[in-house]
Amino acid sequence: MTTARLYRDDPYLLSFEAHVVRRFEHEGRPAVILDRTAFYPESGGQPWDLGTLGGTPVVAVLDEGGDVVHVLASSLAADAVRGEIDGARRCDHREQHHGQHLLSRAFEDVAQARTVSFHLGAEEVTIDLDREVTDAQLRAAEERTNAVIAAARPVTVRIVTRAEAQRLGLKAPPEDAGDAVRLVDAEGFDLQPCSGTHPRSTSEVGLVAILGRERHKAGSRVRFVCGRRALETFHRQHAVLDRLTSLFSTGTEGLADAAQRALDARSAAEKRVRELLLQSLDGEAQRLWAAQPAGSNVVRATYEGWDPETLRGLAQRLVALRPGVALLGSRSDKAYLAFAQSEGLPHDIPALLKAAVAPLGGRGGGKGNLAQGGGDRLDQLETALADAERAVRAPR
Ligand SMILES: [Zn+2]
Repeated sequence: MTTARLYRDDPYLLSFEAHVVRRFEHEGRPAVILDRTAFYPESGGQPWDLGTLGGTPVVAVLDEGGDVVHVLASSLAADAVRGEIDGARRCDHREQHHGQHLLSRAFEDVAQARTVSFHLGAEEVTIDLDREVTDAQLRAAEERTNAVIAAARPVTVRIVTRAEAQRLGLKAPPEDAGDAVRLVDAEGFDLQPCSGTHPRSTSEVGLVAILGRERHKAGSRVRFVCGRRALETFHRQHAVLDRLTSLFSTGTEGLADAAQRALDARSAAEKRVRELLLQSLDGEAQRLWAAQPAGSNVVRATYEGWDPETLRGLAQRLVALRPGVALLGSRSDKAYLAFAQSEGLPHDIPALLKAAVAPLGGRGGGKGNLAQGGGDRLDQLETALADAERAVRAPR
């Protein structure tokens, strides 16, 4: 015996009585099969219904070889149970799924683009089309769909044989077993095989709003929302716009320009900061050499909060200015090191750095006359630098 599917005849049914015919475990959770159910199992791109069975939350509903498996939050003792479907979720799925049927038909009409897959997500719905569509086709399909919604065409379901479906040029969905093929008919506009839950009239979809599209395989992936979701999306996105217009002190129309100006100003400021930083590094290198005792060709210094790039820049300037060795450290989010020597000096800088970075519990590397690295042990930074200086000054 297979489960009688009440949602097929009445997609508005939210409450029903049934008997448990089998109990088992599904991936560690209790599960039941009923003699009849109004719960829609995940299928054909439409997610499962939520709700309760005998007061126990239903967490997943799966289609398994003709049976509908209800996966439960906890086990169910009673044999006769009342099922209650989450009506808001069912209604939302009806709006999104039927909107998808209409939009897919519109894309076939305006762009000869066929829908190859459909995904009803928690926020957005997508269809994948087998060919790329233009902006103009996107708008045309959206307009056509909304015109059909406004026309309030009746939506009916009928069952035909496989042979009849084939005559109508329709392919039975893989989840339909046997000879019966269920067709969803939006009168005079669209007819397609489907096991999903649909409204009685196209008007119930309310609105289809296309959010965008991207390239996908050889075609386009189109993102959209229907019905109440469209309104929710509008409110959510409008809240973001309100925040931005208030931050930029401008109206919606001026927002893009204001954001562009802010980005340009930031780029210019960053460039200027970089220039000033480089100038100050030149000055810092000169100051460090001037502070060295006569005859010393090793500079060792530690900075607070310097990033590795700046530290390396100073090390490079030091050894370019005078023949010598630079051993620099910074206490920042980590302990950073940058070691360098002038061209022609004999030290193995990468090996020196590797030895110094080990007690910092980190890693580093380099080649030739420059190496850098860092680790988390800020408390070991001074010792590591002192050891490196001793190694450099040791008679060779
Ligand atoms: Zn469908």
